[in-house]
Amino acid sequence: MTGEATTAVLGTDGMAALIRALTARGRTVIGPTVRDGAIVLAELTDGAELPYGWGVELAAGHYRVRPRADGAAFAHSAGPQSWKTYLHPQRERQWSADRAADGAWVVSEEAAPPPAYAFLGVRPCDLRAIAVQDRVLAGGPHADSRYRARRERAFLVVVECTEPGATCFCASMGTGPAADGGYDLALTEVVDAGGHRFWARAGSDEGASVLAELPHLPDDPALATGARDLVAAAAGRMGRTMPETDLQALMRETLHADRWNDVAARCLTCGNCTMACPTCFCTSAEDVTDLTGDHAERWRRWESCFDLEFSHLPGGPVRASGRSRYRQWATHKLGTWYDQFGSSGCVGCGRCIVWCPVGIDITEEAHALHTERAAGGAPGEEGR
Ligand code: SF4
Ligand code: SF4
Repeated sequence: MTGEATTAVLGTDGMAALIRALTARGRTVIGPTVRDGAIVLAELTDGAELPYGWGVELAAGHYRVRPRADGAAFAHSAGPQSWKTYLHPQRERQWSADRAADGAWVVSEEAAPPPAYAFLGVRPCDLRAIAVQDRVLAGGPHADSRYRARRERAFLVVVECTEPGATCFCASMGTGPAADGGYDLALTEVVDAGGHRFWARAGSDEGASVLAELPHLPDDPALATGARDLVAAAAGRMGRTMPETDLQALMRETLHADRWNDVAARCLTCGNCTMACPTCFCTSAEDVTDLTGDHAERWRRWESCFDLEFSHLPGGPVRASGRSRYRQWATHKLGTWYDQFGSSGCVGCGRCIVWCPVGIDITEEAHALHTERAAGGAPGEEGR
C-alpha cells in the first residue's frame, strides 16, 4: 500500500463523510437502513440514513427491529438481504433480440457497464460469503462476466461484529466475527464513555486514500485494544453453534438418517432459505417475447433447489420429495460444497434460520444428525 495513513479514529461525522467521499468517487453506496420494519440494504446518500439506534431481535422464524439506547449503527445482523442482491441480482437480462426488416434476428447483449458499488457495513461472515460466490461465479473457465465486472469494481467497507444475533454462528464456521483481510476499509464501532467512535483500518490503496480524506478524531491507542476486546467477546456470545465435528464427514455419513424425515415433515419447500442465503447462487433462464413476436429477451433469475422443477430431467424431477430436497440443500452447504469449491457453503450468518417461515434451524438439524450418528441409530431407507 501507499504511505497514506492506514488507521484512524472516525466519529459519526466521519461516517457521513465516508458516504460523501465514496459518492464523489462515482460509487453507488449501499448500506443498512431501516425500512418496512427491517434493517435492509439500500442506496445511501447521507450518513443519517444509517440505522443509528436500531438493533434486531432474532429467533428461528422471527425478526423484529428494536430501538437501542446506545445509538449504535451496526449492532444488528441477519437482515433479509445479503450483498448478492447487488453482485448477483435476482433478475438480470442477459440479451435481447429484435426481428429486422429482412426478417433476420439481431441479438444485442447487455452493454451497460455495471455500477461501481461501495458496500458499507459488510459483516465478516458476509465477506466470506462474497469470497464463496467469487469462487463459484468469478473463478474457473465459465466465469460470469457481469458478476466479475461488478465484483472487480466494488469497494468493500467491512464492519466487524460486536453484537452477534441469537441465530449467528460465524465463530463455529471460522468466518467471523473479526475480519482478516479482503476489504478496502475495516471498521469496528465502539460506543463508550469516550464517545461514539469507529476504529478504521485501510486494507487497500484506495481504502487508504479514502481514509485520508475523512475527518479524524484524535488518535487513541486504547480504542484499538477496546475494539479488539469487543470483537473477541462477540465470538463468545454467538447465539448458535455447529457441532464440533467434521461437518463434511457428518453429512456423508448420515445420508440415510431418520432425521431427514423429521425435518421434511416441517419443511414447506418454499425456498426462502436459499433466497436469503448469501452463498446460494443457482439460477434459471427465462425467454420472453412481446405480443408482436418481433422482440425477445432472455432473463436470468434466482432459482432454488427446493423447487420441484429444479431437478427435472426427462421422466420427472430427480428429487421429488421434500426430504430429498432439504437433504440436498443441507448436504451441499455443509458437505459437497468442499468437493466442488474447496470450502464450506455456509458462513454461519443465520439468515436461513431467521427467514424460514417455520423456523427450521440448520444448526439444530446438524446437531440432531450428529446425535443420531453418535447413537448408532438405524439409518433410514433412501427416499423414505
Ligand atoms: S427450510 Fe424453511 S425456508 Fe427452507 S424451504 Fe424449508 S420451510 Fe422454506
Ligand atoms: S446456510 Fe444459512 S447460515 Fe449458512 S450461509 Fe446460508 S443462510 Fe447463512
